[in-house]
Amino acid sequence: MATDARPRHVMRGGGSPPADGPVHEVVEARTASLGDGMEVRRLLPRRARRRVGAWCFLDHFGPVPSARLDVAPHPHIGLQTVTWLLEGEVTHLDTLGSRQTIRPGQLNWMTAGEGIAHVEVSQGGPLHGVQLWVALPEAHRHVAPAFEHHAYLPRVVQDDVGVTVLAGTFAGHTSPARTYSPLLGLHLDVPARAATRLTLDPTHEHALLVVSGAVSAVGATLRPGALHYLGRGRDHLDLSGVEDGRAMLLGGAPMAEDVLLWWNFVARTGDEVAEARRRWAAGGFGPVPGYDGDPLEAPPL
Ligand code: MN
Repeated sequence: MATDARPRHVMRGGGSPPADGPVHEVVEARTASLGDGMEVRRLLPRRARRRVGAWCFLDHFGPVPSARLDVAPHPHIGLQTVTWLLEGEVTHLDTLGSRQTIRPGQLNWMTAGEGIAHVEVSQGGPLHGVQLWVALPEAHRHVAPAFEHHAYLPRVVQDDVGVTVLAGTFAGHTSPARTYSPLLGLHLDVPARAATRLTLDPTHEHALLVVSGAVSAVGATLRPGALHYLGRGRDHLDLSGVEDGRAMLLGGAPMAEDVLLWWNFVARTGDEVAEARRRWAAGGFGPVPGYDGDPLEAPPL
């Protein structure tokens, strides 16, 4: 998933630098199409904000009552993809031979490193979730590809607010997902009228995305459709439920490197992108076992 049917995003540099202190910037989503009529709200990268820590891509899709998703084989390099569902199920296949159906509460965490290709399909039925990419730092961006499925994740309940740890560590609980830079990814279940204080690492920058309902934070009522960038320097975040809400809290150490996003690649130079594109066209990522259809073609350079 998260391959754009109209892949026009070439994103390098630009965007605001990581804020030194606490801020509240509203980053409005733009609508993107995955094909098959599936529209998504794209929250990263946006012109105003390219990344939060190493989180460099964020799509919020659904809820839709019925989605027949068929994202044909497509390649990734230099990143990790993260699939997290709130509703429905999606089956992942990749060039390593992985075949894994994911359901709400479970985590698919794929490290592309030097290169992998995958497929994501759903058989109809409701669908609601997010897909994220993590940019790999220079020292690790050519690691061997890997696929992790985590059926169970650490979950803490604090003042009736449920906190599931997708990435990094919260309240002494660490996600099993393999990360290559200081990163935080939390799913929050915030019932109406529940209120809690989350302890944060002030050296990280953070952002909050409400995916359903309404949550009160930083003096505002937050709803789906925008990413709320919170900057650095916060050692806590107070949250309360306005309506039963669900949210994602993303954090990480600001990434000093400039990265180039083109189609499904995270690279550093245009030559690297051209080389990955050639390799894909030549079948150099290998076949995705168990998938019959044609692969996606990369857009022209
Ligand atoms: Mn993908």
